[in-house]
Amino acid sequence: MFHHPSFDDHERVLHATDAASGLKAIIAIHNTVRGPALGGCRVWTYDDDDAALTDALRLSRGMSYKSAMADLPLGGGKSVMIVPERGAATPAMFEALGRAIEDLSGKYIVAEDVGSSPRDLAFVKRHTRHVTGLAPEDGGVGDPSPTTAYGCFIGVAATARAVGFPSLEGVHVALQGLGNVGYGLAAHLARAGARLTVADIAAERVRQAEAEWGAASVPVDEIATVAADIFSPNALGAGLNADTIPRLQVRAVAGGANNQLATPADDDALRMRGILYAPDYVINAGGVIKMAGEYYRWDDAEVARRVEGIADRLGEIFTEADRTGRPTGEVADRLAEARFGRG
Ligand code: NAD
Repeated sequence: MFHHPSFDDHERVLHATDAASGLKAIIAIHNTVRGPALGGCRVWTYDDDDAALTDALRLSRGMSYKSAMADLPLGGGKSVMIVPERGAATPAMFEALGRAIEDLSGKYIVAEDVGSSPRDLAFVKRHTRHVTGLAPEDGGVGDPSPTTAYGCFIGVAATARAVGFPSLEGVHVALQGLGNVGYGLAAHLARAGARLTVADIAAERVRQAEAEWGAASVPVDEIATVAADIFSPNALGAGLNADTIPRLQVRAVAGGANNQLATPADDDALRMRGILYAPDYVINAGGVIKMAGEYYRWDDAEVARRVEGIADRLGEIFTEADRTGRPTGEVADRLAEARFGRG
């Protein structure tokens, strides 16, 4: 473990098995300096156990950065449930996972992730209260996407200000992906008077955006290179890479997708082109803030106040990047590390 390429002084890495249900899981707690380690349970068919461990180690570390830069009283953790095939996770496995989490006395808080759903978490909750992101019928606050979209809107506005637009009125945003986050963000942008060009592989979402806001549209392989003010990635990861970055025609990149940079070098490639990048895990933190609010029972006003804080946190990153000449993603990582005791 201590020599594993993805090991980063994680505080605890545990496996959890249960013969009766067939549970096979890994719980990784990266850092709890700021508070209990929050992170979803990914349910996946891994090629081998090392791939599952790598995922748990990397994703839990990522959550330490995300929670720290969202100013939450939380650390970073993640669990992975290893299943032989899609759809093989059972309620009994989630119950067994709940018992394993309860043994950690609140050091780890589970939520949903790829492959698990809010209804699965209701089975976890039978054995531990250290769970968040439940469905409303199970006592939770429900889908975090609208909060993520609102946080992204706050972040796009802050990024636009940093590149010289005092308001979003008339600002041209090229928006990739009109899913739960992208469509919600587009709605906020349209209300604020932004001009939208959109793309999605789902044609009906594009038609809806055209009808609702008079958005223009382009094919999916053209959206990253539209001449606009801001490019907003809200589909899947790695949209910013050696192919797209040289062809971007915008002043800034700000959107909700996770893992936007294909490689760490792409952070500096954007800086060299003079394109301001709003680090993905900072701008898309609305969802984790909402989950924290469910766990700590914050009211709506407190959640909104914290989501609106995304503007200040981006501002801090942009100012520091300006001062040091370093790329914004790297600056965000250093600020986060200082906040969770690794500075
Ligand atoms: P979603 O599945 O609802 O939406 C994704 C959308 O992207 C879909 O409409 C899909 O058709 C479209 N799409 C896929 N490939 C595309 C392509 N090549 N070009 C254009 N469009 C494409 O997912 P979501 O919940 O909206 O999440 C979007 C992104 O935001 C993901 O990267 C996710 O990890 C991230 N994110 C989501 C949340 C949240 O609260 N939902 C929180 C943080 C980060």
